[in-house]
Amino acid sequence: MADIKCSVCDETYTEMEGFEGTEQAYKCSADIIGETVVGNYGSTVLDMHMAVFTPSRPESMGDGIICDSCISSMMDEGTLVISLAENRDGVDMDDEAAMLLLMGEDERAYEETEGRSN
Ligand SMILES: [Zn+2]
Repeated sequence: MADIKCSVCDETYTEMEGFEGTEQAYKCSADIIGETVVGNYGSTVLDMHMAVFTPSRPESMGDGIICDSCISSMMDEGTLVISLAENRDGVDMDDEAAMLLLMGEDERAYEETEGRSN
């Protein structure tokens, strides 16, 4: 099985059995695509979800594979936020981290709406 290398931290992960050639490894199965990170099966923090860079993707970061630990630290920093527009109904309600992000985002969206109406 091939090793999957995170393009951000250079950590290597082993491709999942049955997913040879897909570049999907357990805990390293998300792709940086433009201003978004798209999680695939195998990612524990972004499984089948999408996140967006906030306010924008760091210039040092290119398109490539990103591992869960890099995603998690960026989410902790608030530089990567789960995309509500694309995945609102897809958010795993058992995922506490995702729910907290979702709630935080709701609050911000609410404030923005309030600001506009004033
Ligand atoms: Zn990484």
